[in-house]
Amino acid sequence: MLTVPANFLRRLFDSSNMETRRPVLGASFESNISGLYVIGDLAGAPVVKLAMEQGSDVAAHIAGKPDAKGNDVNVYDLIVIGSGAAGLNAALGAQDRGLRVLVLEKNKIANTIEDFPEGKRVYAEPETRPPKGKLWLDGASKEDLLGRWHQIIRENGLAVHAGEGVDTIRKQKDGTFDIQTPVALYQARRVVLATGLRGNPRRLGVTGEDLEQVYHRLYSPKHYHDEDILVVGGGNSAVEAAVTLSEQNRVTLSYRGGQFTRVFKDNRRRLEGAIGSGRLKVIYNSTVKGFGDATCTLAVGGGEQDLELPYHHAFVLIGAEAPETFLRSLGIHLENDWTGSPLAAALPALAALAGIWVLGGKTGFTALEGHAWAGGIVALVSFMALVFSTVRGSRFALLGLSFVTCYSIYAAKQAEGFEYWPYRGWGARALAFWNRPWSFWYTVLYTAVMTVFGLQAMKRWGFDKRDRFQIWRYVSLISFQWIFFFLIPEFLFRWAVEYQWVGARLAHDPVFAGQAWRAYGLVYAWPLFFYTFFGNPSQVWVVWGLILAFGIIPVLVLFHGKRYCSWICGCGGLAETLGDRWRHLAPKGKTSVRWEWMNSVVLGAAVVITALVLARDFFHIFGKPAQMGLEYYHLFADVWLVGIIPVTLYPFFGGKVWCRYWCPLAKLMQIFSAAFTRFRVSRFAIHANEKCIACMECTRNCQVGIDVMNYALKQEPITNANSSCIGCGICVTVCPMDVLSFGREAAQESKLVQISAG
Ligand SMILES: Cc1cc2nc3c(=O)[nH]c(=O)nc-3n(C[C@H](O)[C@H](O)[C@H](O)COP(=O)(O)OP(=O)(O)OC[C@H]3O[C@@H](n4cnc5c(N)ncnc54)[C@H](O)[C@@H]3O)c2cc1C
Ligand code: SF4
Ligand code: SF4
Repeated sequence: MLTVPANFLRRLFDSSNMETRRPVLGASFESNISGLYVIGDLAGAPVVKLAMEQGSDVAAHIAGKPDAKGNDVNVYDLIVIGSGAAGLNAALGAQDRGLRVLVLEKNKIANTIEDFPEGKRVYAEPETRPPKGKLWLDGASKEDLLGRWHQIIRENGLAVHAGEGVDTIRKQKDGTFDIQTPVALYQARRVVLATGLRGNPRRLGVTGEDLEQVYHRLYSPKHYHDEDILVVGGGNSAVEAAVTLSEQNRVTLSYRGGQFTRVFKDNRRRLEGAIGSGRLKVIYNSTVKGFGDATCTLAVGGGEQDLELPYHHAFVLIGAEAPETFLRSLGIHLENDWTGSPLAAALPALAALAGIWVLGGKTGFTALEGHAWAGGIVALVSFMALVFSTVRGSRFALLGLSFVTCYSIYAAKQAEGFEYWPYRGWGARALAFWNRPWSFWYTVLYTAVMTVFGLQAMKRWGFDKRDRFQIWRYVSLISFQWIFFFLIPEFLFRWAVEYQWVGARLAHDPVFAGQAWRAYGLVYAWPLFFYTFFGNPSQVWVVWGLILAFGIIPVLVLFHGKRYCSWICGCGGLAETLGDRWRHLAPKGKTSVRWEWMNSVVLGAAVVITALVLARDFFHIFGKPAQMGLEYYHLFADVWLVGIIPVTLYPFFGGKVWCRYWCPLAKLMQIFSAAFTRFRVSRFAIHANEKCIACMECTRNCQVGIDVMNYALKQEPITNANSSCIGCGICVTVCPMDVLSFGREAAQESKLVQISAG
């Protein structure tokens, strides 16, 4: 019975994972084990040039440490594991800076490139970035490139032990590392792990996959003549292999998708050429069921029918996986790993909540009344236990800590006059210091957090990347928070009334003057700020609310899509600032997109309750359902869906849970924007040129889980008719190839490239 919810939770938390998972890395590629660095393919460098860049940067970082060099001749200053582009450049850079360096390599030097098919040209993308470090790279055949690299290793006297793979790395009490290979034990002050991904090809997991005629790499395409060959896969490696093999053989390419969305434009052109000339046959929507000695079985048409295919050789080229077992055996954490014990986290979390309720005197048990101090101690001790476990690496404890923190802060904000929360009576009064309610201090806290983390995010995306768009975006978010969601409602509104800046008539109108909180409606539009039209508002607010929701917002959407979410809104603002560090954990994949139906439900509820309340206020009908609707909406939407759950989930699903799944205003803007796109008047779209190298950085960093790379490879514009893009521009900023740009949808349409299915 428990398997259904358990499977649901597993799918939910797995939705944050990219296809290939990365280790958790801090600044300068340092893993959770201090002194152990991870670079190259393993750390997300998708091409040789970027792997070289990481190697060069990590060498400079390590050599810059005050204790980079040691005196003990038995201990290397640095051991680099893996002699690919990243590892070699790191080792050469560190040696150049005076460190004693050793490289350990499991196979041949630069084995991944050694394994490329004969004569393969190694592209030197991105062209706009010069190669960094001592290795040479300039679009050449693999043989030429390897010749140059061997020469550089010789000239620099770099010690590389080829054929000596590393089995384990252990950190010692004195801070050095023991590195064990099958032939020796080495010691080093620091270690760089640059073992790449290619040693771990992804497998289909079907019968016969271990037969000797089934391969997971293609070394020598010229070796095969006049044979029946099956290639399985839909990425660049599979397409390149199928096209090359088809020059001398009869090739069938089996792909589980309906079209090739993840291949370079050049490869797509070659593929279409090979299909057109009849040398290559593609079977779309097919999966391999098993390999026999002379035939293999494909399930085609979504599994409705089986196809027996004769073959002499099969190449399964479906990508590579991070060597998770190896990394975990070294103690390296992977992103989104659920470390720690759920029970050990749940107990202190529940105890902390119980303690908070006893502290507030709201448990309803008379025996517990008068024991506030005991509740306080239990809450504090349990909270500290959660902090301790979190610091020791338990992710379950982080979830408990995050929930207890968000719940406590938001519950305190509710304070007086609301039945569901613990802090009332003395609790509420104690928190209302300096004659201000706790809700004021909540706003102070919110603004301070947004400012501190906003400046950090501004540095990360704006100053570090020299991107003015991002600098202005963060200036805008922080300014809106300060001006419209803090200074005006908390101070300026009162002064505007007191000093009659709003005119004598309004200043003397008690309905207007007594409701400073309505100033939030200056920028928060219906249905996000639900209350503009309720509870005896001044006419000024009603008129402004209508203009904002049905005039200004649609015009903004026409020109900027849903940029309100990433430039203006305070809810989106907290997500873009505090939530920024976890943006790569946004749920991904088709299922996560389907979950977006939930914001239609919240929008529907907002519309119905608005209608009920207006009917109550104007026609004196539906009084009871209107009141009930308001209370439930406040509890579920305002408190749980805006305040507590999404912020609790920032470290697990990134910052945009509310904005993406529940915000009714985001849904309304989505409807407007999609309609403008369909009527071809929208000015908002993201376009891609043909330079995408499929590095996935854009997809990884999209906080609303859009598979940006998929659009980029197809050069299909991203709009709100096909995605819930909020125009934050992070995908544009992170792309190493300058593939993406904002622009107008209709004007770019001629650039759209679709590949033929035949
Ligand atoms: C078919 C194909 C074509 C490609 N074409 C291009 C291209 O044209 N241009 C481009 O820029 N990029 C291309 N790439 C991507 C490029 O190969 C990688 O981005 C790059 O090699 C990554 O470098 P790296 O140093 O991180 O890892 P790798 O180059 O994979 O090097 C890792 C090294 O570590 C070694 N190793 C693994 N485990 C251990 C261990 N336990 N102990 C010791 N050593 C170990 C491996 O043997 C290997 O030599 C291509 C990739 C593939 C698969
Ligand atoms: S697609 Fe790009 S601009 Fe749109 S939300 Fe994702 S990262 Fe931001
Ligand atoms: S569009 Fe995305 S996948 Fe393509 S190069 Fe740019 S960041 Fe990488």
